[in-house]
Amino acid sequence: MVKNIAILGSSGSIGQSTLEVIRSLRPEFKVAALSVSSDIVKLKQQIGEFGVRLVCVRDEKNAHRLRAQVSSSVKILCGDDGLKELVKDKQIDQVMFAVSGSAALSPLISAIEAGKDIALANKEAIVMAGPMIMRLAKKHKVNLLPVDSEQSAIWQSLGAQNTEDVRRIYLTASGGPLRNLPRNKFKQVTIEDVLRHPRWKMGQKITVDSATLMNKGLELLEAMFLFNLGVNKIKILIHPEALIHSMVEFNDGVVMAQLSVPDMRIPIQYALTYPKRLKNSLAGIDFYSLSKMHFEKPDLKRFPSLGLAYWAAESLGTMPAVLNAANEESVNSFLNRKINFLTIPKIVEKVMRRHENKVNPSLRDIIFADAWAREEAMRLVH
Ligand code: MG
Repeated sequence: MVKNIAILGSSGSIGQSTLEVIRSLRPEFKVAALSVSSDIVKLKQQIGEFGVRLVCVRDEKNAHRLRAQVSSSVKILCGDDGLKELVKDKQIDQVMFAVSGSAALSPLISAIEAGKDIALANKEAIVMAGPMIMRLAKKHKVNLLPVDSEQSAIWQSLGAQNTEDVRRIYLTASGGPLRNLPRNKFKQVTIEDVLRHPRWKMGQKITVDSATLMNKGLELLEAMFLFNLGVNKIKILIHPEALIHSMVEFNDGVVMAQLSVPDMRIPIQYALTYPKRLKNSLAGIDFYSLSKMHFEKPDLKRFPSLGLAYWAAESLGTMPAVLNAANEESVNSFLNRKINFLTIPKIVEKVMRRHENKVNPSLRDIIFADAWAREEAMRLVH
């Protein structure tokens, strides 16, 4: 049977890797729909190669431009409403959320309500509205398969075991490009320093988050919601070789870990082929040439973003959404050279301090908190 996949964010790093995986899994896997934010050059090439008949371009002008360039048999939607319509299409079996940022939240809800299985590479939507999304997925009997390498590792290590059997989770982190940088050097960190990640090649937003360790903070929240775990059960562990992608320690002291070479095509493929493990062309780990693996405690003094994520994880309610929104705006401002590296967590902290947390929030509360936090963050940037 053919599985029809929609990919949201097909021009980005995860989107392109997903297409690469599907290329190797054809003809059992097909691309049913694609979406990009604005890169219609890449999209046009993908439409041609995969014979796609349904796409969405977030930017209206570019959607219009694309219409003039491709056959009229290709349906081209646009904007956020277009994305919500796209994910409901009858042809689609599974939707890959490869877009970054909070923009994924509303199409994610639409896809779950339409009963589509989800491959989730986006972490911001879960961080914002995790408990609500998990309830919704349960209600609509939708499989929510994690693609983020750490969450995929936890999922695989858990196997058929329950959350009650878990003593703790070790969420591993490579430590990012600034792992060994002394505290007094953080002031001069440039965009170029940050975008030089030692282990993973990724989009800009997540690469900055890896440098501040906010990425691990968001993953802490993501793991809590995906696997229904309290914050005290999750330990963050720096592991620079990035071969162990996370571990689960059970009540009897047994630890299950998932290891592989650090390549996103592995968790992507498993989310598409689950429960099967199909062949790929990647080499395995060469244990004979690997003499050591290293582990360290994260340094919260040099990486205050991690402390902020713990604060949001302990507060819950609307605080994770506020953390995420303030971080997104600060990272954007850093990428646009409006603020320096050290200011990113300072802005997030100030916004969180001003926030009046609301417990058990509705979707409206979450969207309101998100918008409020963005406005506050932008005010602080200026
Ligand atoms: Mg990750």
